[in-house]
Amino acid sequence: METCKGDKCEGCGEFTPGYDTVHYGSLDTGYRLLCTRCFNAEVASLHGLDDFENVRLDPIGLTDCAGEDHKFHFQTRLLGDMMTLEAFELQDGNPAGYKFELIGSPEDDLFDLLGKMVARIRRTLSVKYLEEGMPGLQIAGMTVRGRIEWDDEEDGRVPLMIADGRAISWEQFGQMMMSHEGWQFKLEILDRSDEI
Ligand SMILES: [Zn+2]
Repeated sequence: METCKGDKCEGCGEFTPGYDTVHYGSLDTGYRLLCTRCFNAEVASLHGLDDFENVRLDPIGLTDCAGEDHKFHFQTRLLGDMMTLEAFELQDGNPAGYKFELIGSPEDDLFDLLGKMVARIRRTLSVKYLEEGMPGLQIAGMTVRGRIEWDDEEDGRVPLMIADGRAISWEQFGQMMMSHEGWQFKLEILDRSDEI
């Protein structure tokens, strides 16, 4: 249930959840709270991008290899000469779990980009890097792919790891690594829009 109505967009007047708003403006002109769509419209007119498809994409449901359903919400953001498409799950009204980002140009067909996004999500959902073992969650094979996030509980001191769309504390991640004590590892950090 998404109970949070959010704040009122100063462009269209619609109540919009926090993850879908942005403070837009400058020190000189002041800032306005805009929903993503109104923000995109402002950027499109500023850059003369009359053909930009400023559409709101409906969420879609996809099933992972363990048979669990995931609902993905989409957000497009126009940033001058580039456009980003993000896909994310919501938990208590905030983005959490699996998250994806693709970068395109404002001239790109949004539905082409959406098709690429869905294909990427499917590829990711077809693999699980973690498994329930003894004791608790374990690394299933020799590789873990995921995301580094801020951990409120730790005040950002150490990361919160997201793998298989689930949050793993740094402590818990360390415990999982101990099943490979004495082995080597290779750590590679990639851009948020790269496919891992
Ligand atoms: Zn708006």
